[in-house]
Amino acid sequence: MTAQTGRHFLQIPGPSPVPDRVLRAMDMPVIDHRGPEFGKMGLEILEGCRAIFKTASPVVIYPSSGTGAWEAAIVNTLSSGDKVLMVETGHFATLWCKMAERWGLNIDFMPSDWRHGADAAAIEAKLVEDKAHAIKAVMVVHNETSTGVTSRIGEIRKAIDAAHHPALLMVDTISSLGSVDYRHDEWGVDVSVSCSQKGLMLPPGLGFNAISDKALAASKTNKLPRSYFDWQEMLKSNASGFFPYTPATNVLFGLRESLKMLFEEGLNEVFARHKRLAAATRAAVEAWGLEVLCLEPAEYSPVLTAVLMPPGHDADRFRAIVLEKYNMSLGTGLAKFAGKVFRIGHLGECNTLTLMAAISGVEMGLAAAGVPHRAGGITAAMRVLEDASETNAAASLKMAAG
Ligand code: PLP
Repeated sequence: MTAQTGRHFLQIPGPSPVPDRVLRAMDMPVIDHRGPEFGKMGLEILEGCRAIFKTASPVVIYPSSGTGAWEAAIVNTLSSGDKVLMVETGHFATLWCKMAERWGLNIDFMPSDWRHGADAAAIEAKLVEDKAHAIKAVMVVHNETSTGVTSRIGEIRKAIDAAHHPALLMVDTISSLGSVDYRHDEWGVDVSVSCSQKGLMLPPGLGFNAISDKALAASKTNKLPRSYFDWQEMLKSNASGFFPYTPATNVLFGLRESLKMLFEEGLNEVFARHKRLAAATRAAVEAWGLEVLCLEPAEYSPVLTAVLMPPGHDADRFRAIVLEKYNMSLGTGLAKFAGKVFRIGHLGECNTLTLMAAISGVEMGLAAAGVPHRAGGITAAMRVLEDASETNAAASLKMAAG
């Protein structure tokens, strides 16, 4: 039986489903990107982006995927041969490291088991050792999408401060922005890197850098060559809401709408919703008798849950069965977890019933694929979400009464 009727369930950890409101906002004639209507929209969007990154500093937007925004962060701040400290939290941290190598940076890549976040104490120890301040940047991935582990950026900031080290802090917030509380200014992040197709609920196509004063100062003296990704060109035009080159106009229409949606729901509620859905997913995994890849409860990702397959069972065969029978895409295991892990995305436009459908699809898929597990994941997830909605309802009643 194939299940191609009804809507497709895109439960990968990005690109995430694009809400109808956003699709409708993008379904518009292209406008003159040098005209007054565009300039007004540009200013509105850039202001909204600053609120999402929680920064008063500039945010720039490129027509690129997240990888382009990684590159922009590197070429605008560093020089060939610069020493940087990176942490091997998973596949995406490894890819960023490879890019840094290609740009001639000298990387101290701190190993990790891909089941924990970046270790702030270990970073502090490295920085304390670096008396000559040779390390120019600490570069970490906030939410490691390959593993479902969220590093604690506030603690990394504290570690850098405790070591009295001047290194820049650069953070990949590609799969956390708009889903997990992120604080560019409060955490003293110098460059935050992100993109459109995850928590911002847009199609792929936009890359972001949020830029601190310190990063901006570094960009005035660093030596790596750049042209298209040069912040200075972008910032000059952005001051009046414009872009130096043709922007991705219709994706920006979508961004204006998705920012509105996030602010209407309220960022705190958006973050709480992601945490609830993640907790329900983990309850299901536990009930199935399977194992969540992330080993540190304080680092469980609100965005996705990576699940280990029992030995001898291929995660990709299971995913293929789920797609064929239930028209649902789950995330594949990446790099060393290929075939061993599947990932359930619960980000962006995902609510209680979306998640319940996804959990049902996984449980039915486990049975269909002959993967040993216990039934009861659906009920376990439901209990978590029911408890959460009771708590919310009680809070609203109390507020109404008060
Ligand atoms: N960093 C993280 C944490 C990611 O999840 C991804 C993509 O999923 C990337 C970087 C690469 O981004 P892109 O594929 O948009 O270039």
